[in-house]
Amino acid sequence: MPRSCAIHDFGDLVLLPGFVDTHVHINEPGRTEWEGFETATRAAAAGGVTTLVDMPLNCLPETTTVDALAAKRRSAAGKTHVDWAAWGGLTEDNQVHLAPLAEAGVLGFKCFLVDPGIEGLMMVGEAALEAAAPELAQLGLPLLVHAELPGPIEAAASTLKDADWRDYMIYLRSRPDRSEIEAIRMLIRLCRKHRFRLHIVHLSTSLALKELHAARGEGLPLTVETCPHYLHFVAEEIKVSSTLLKCAPPIRSRGNCEALWKGLEEGSIDLIVTDHSPCIPAMKYAGDGDLRRAWGGIASLSIAASVVWTGMRRRNIPVRRLAQWMASAPAKLAGLSSRKGAIAAGMDADIVAFDPEASFRVTPACLRYRHPISPYLGEELYGVVRATILRGTEIYREGVLAEPPMGLDLRIETPREQSQLKVEEERSS
Ligand code: ZN
Repeated sequence: MPRSCAIHDFGDLVLLPGFVDTHVHINEPGRTEWEGFETATRAAAAGGVTTLVDMPLNCLPETTTVDALAAKRRSAAGKTHVDWAAWGGLTEDNQVHLAPLAEAGVLGFKCFLVDPGIEGLMMVGEAALEAAAPELAQLGLPLLVHAELPGPIEAAASTLKDADWRDYMIYLRSRPDRSEIEAIRMLIRLCRKHRFRLHIVHLSTSLALKELHAARGEGLPLTVETCPHYLHFVAEEIKVSSTLLKCAPPIRSRGNCEALWKGLEEGSIDLIVTDHSPCIPAMKYAGDGDLRRAWGGIASLSIAASVVWTGMRRRNIPVRRLAQWMASAPAKLAGLSSRKGAIAAGMDADIVAFDPEASFRVTPACLRYRHPISPYLGEELYGVVRATILRGTEIYREGVLAEPPMGLDLRIETPREQSQLKVEEERSS
C-alpha cells in the first residue's frame, strides 16, 4: 500500500459501493430555484450516492442538443460534491442531435410517451420512436422511457369529471395500470424489431412484470427500474390532499407494492433509483390539495438507501442486494461499470460506510436538498450512512460535508486528462 494512503477504520459497519443514482432531475440551468448541482449533490453525498446521472428535462434548455449539454456542464463546473454525467433527451424533432450528443458524452437518451406536464421536452409517438430506433441500436446507448400511454389516461379522465381530486384513489384511477402496460407492450415490440437497449424508468404497475420477464427470456436488451416511493407507500394509506405523494405513474395498492418487491427479488426489476424531482414548495402545495394542480415528483436523494433498506430489513432481504440494486445495476445501465458500482481492484474507491441496525427520524435537516419538503418527514428509517468516500477521499462523515466539492463530470474528465497527457508526451519527445 502506498505510504501516503489514508486509513479509515469503520469498525463493524457494512462497507458498500457508493450508490449510483441514474434518475435525478437537477433542474440546473434554468430552474435552479427548484434544485441545482450544489444542493442535489450535497444531498447525494449525505445519502451515500457517489455518482448521479441527470435527466434532460425540467432544466432550461432541456438537454436535447450539444449546446444545451455544454450549458449544463458550464453550470455544473466546480459545484458538484459527487461525480455526475448526463442523459440526453429524445424528442419528435431532435433525431439529428442523437449522434452528436452521444459523441459529446451523454450516456443514453430519455423520452416520454405522455405529456411530461411541463414545457420543454415534448412527448414522442410510436412513429418517432420507430424512426430513431435503428440509430439508437447502432449507438449502443440505452433509451430510457417514461412508459405511460395517453389513451387510457384520457379515457379515465372522462369518467372522473365530478370526482374529488383531493382523494389519492381518484388520482390513482386517473392513471390506470393499463396505461403502463400498453406502453410497455409497444416498447417491447419495438425492441424486438430493432434490438436497441430499452430501459423502463419508474415502473409502478406490477401487472407488467410477467410480460417484462417473458421479454427478457427472449433475450431482448431490456432493463427495468422502480423507485423508493413505490416500494414504501401504498395508496390505501394515503391521506386526503397528500400532494407530496403525487408522482407519475402513481403509487398503487399494497398488493402491487408487495409484487414489486417480489419482482426485484426474482430479477424482473433490475434496479432502484430515486426519480429525485424537486420543485419550489408553492408548486407542491398549489391548488388546496387538488392532485391535478400540484407538481408531480418526489425527492429522496439523501434518504433513498435508508427507505429501501427499511423495506428490505422487514422482508429479510440481505444487504448485498442493496449494493446490487442501487450501485452495480444502475452503473451497468449507465455504461459506467468499469469504474463505478463495485468495490474492486481497478475501480474508483467509492465507498459507503453503512450502519444497517441504526435508525433515525427524517427531519428537514437530514434532507439537504434545496427545499427540504418530503412525504417521508417524521418517519423512522433504518440504515444510517455514516460516511461517504469518493475516489478515495472522504466527502461526508456523520452529518458533515467536506468542502470544496470534488465531484467530476465523468465524461469530460478522461478526454481532458488524455489531452494533457498528450501535451506532456509531445514536450518530452
Ligand atoms: Zn423522472
